[in-house]
Amino acid sequence: MSELNQPLLDFLQRSPTPFHAVENLCAELSAAGFSELKEADSWQLSAGGRYFVTRNQSSVVAFVVGQADVAEAGIRMVGAHTDSPCLRVKPNPEINNKGYFQLGVEVYGGVLLHPWFDRDLSLAGRVSCLDANNQVVNKLVNFDKPVAVIPSLAIHLNREANEKSTVNRQKDLPPLLMCSDNKQDFRELLLAEVQKQDASISRVLDYELSFYDCQPPALIGFNDEFIASARLDNLLSCYIGLQALLQAAEQNNDQSLLLVCNDHEEVGSASAAGAQGPMLKTVLERWIDNTESRARAIDNSMMVSVDNAHGVHPNFSEKHDNNHGPKLNAGPVIKINANQRYASNSETQALFRHCCEQAKVPVQSFVVRSDMACGSTIGPITATELGVKTIDVGAPQFAMHSIRETCGAKDTGYLCQALEGFYLFGG
Ligand SMILES: [Zn+2]
Repeated sequence: MSELNQPLLDFLQRSPTPFHAVENLCAELSAAGFSELKEADSWQLSAGGRYFVTRNQSSVVAFVVGQADVAEAGIRMVGAHTDSPCLRVKPNPEINNKGYFQLGVEVYGGVLLHPWFDRDLSLAGRVSCLDANNQVVNKLVNFDKPVAVIPSLAIHLNREANEKSTVNRQKDLPPLLMCSDNKQDFRELLLAEVQKQDASISRVLDYELSFYDCQPPALIGFNDEFIASARLDNLLSCYIGLQALLQAAEQNNDQSLLLVCNDHEEVGSASAAGAQGPMLKTVLERWIDNTESRARAIDNSMMVSVDNAHGVHPNFSEKHDNNHGPKLNAGPVIKINANQRYASNSETQALFRHCCEQAKVPVQSFVVRSDMACGSTIGPITATELGVKTIDVGAPQFAMHSIRETCGAKDTGYLCQALEGFYLFGG
């Protein structure tokens, strides 16, 4: 099994929200000699330099300026997304009912809701506060212990639960935090938590907090062949993409390399920090300010958009086309869709397939059944925004968008080798 697995499990556990994921990615980039650029500062980039820049604390672009002329050598780009479907606390969340205190939640993205019941839930995210100088400051918060639960209704009270069970997003989901006959103020509860890290905070004004499962990520299965965790879609790709970038940067300083990890993919990518926003384009404009050179660089570049794929489920194998059922632990999956829900084309597919062959990594192909709708990812959006040749690939997984997803423990190593091979291709 890959030596990447244990660090990946640690990263998943330390990254309950996109804010935490970006903070952890940036810490690893800094440790590897990347300098942080601020969008508000003026930039002086130099050949051989390693940089990263964040937006909204939830998206990050990391890049290495190669020694070779970027207009001719182009940029090898890898993309992934930092967000995962979850339950987000509402702005006025307090619910007092039957002597219990609960929080109202919004559903973020396409959550598979049933697995959220009877879990030990914690709460994490960003809190925007007022400090002693009356300045608005952002703090990342993680309660890091089970503070809530969404109890199931007993089967005795719903005899048809196993035959037909639906989840009402407004009524059935508010997590239960405590027994309380008194009115609670959620911002006051939050303030006490924020003040543990910064006593100068006087008020909590607003927040983006989500619930997450406290059960730690783990290697599971009779032979430890599987990884079980929340947010494998798509923090696995962010983490493996980062490792591939760091390894490639150590081996080659000619080629320009880039990794972009965007927030808001699960809700359509249309935001300032999302893949449909201008973040990546703006970075490229500031890096290559000459229009002619930038157009040439983009034409000589390629993007590998990495997002997990649906592995064929042995109990539901009819949900896949018979010839396109990717298996776990059998290598990265090239995702293809004639209707451009994926950005792959024969040229980018061929190049990626070749990189896998060179790296001795098995590779698989996925197209959705012709009678089913196809998902999408940041690939087609980035291709549309930048005009860069793109391929969509990803590690196969089960239970996408569940609170606990399953991947193959060999696929992390396979994906890393394939991406490293792509970053270094031809060098
Ligand atoms: Zn995804």
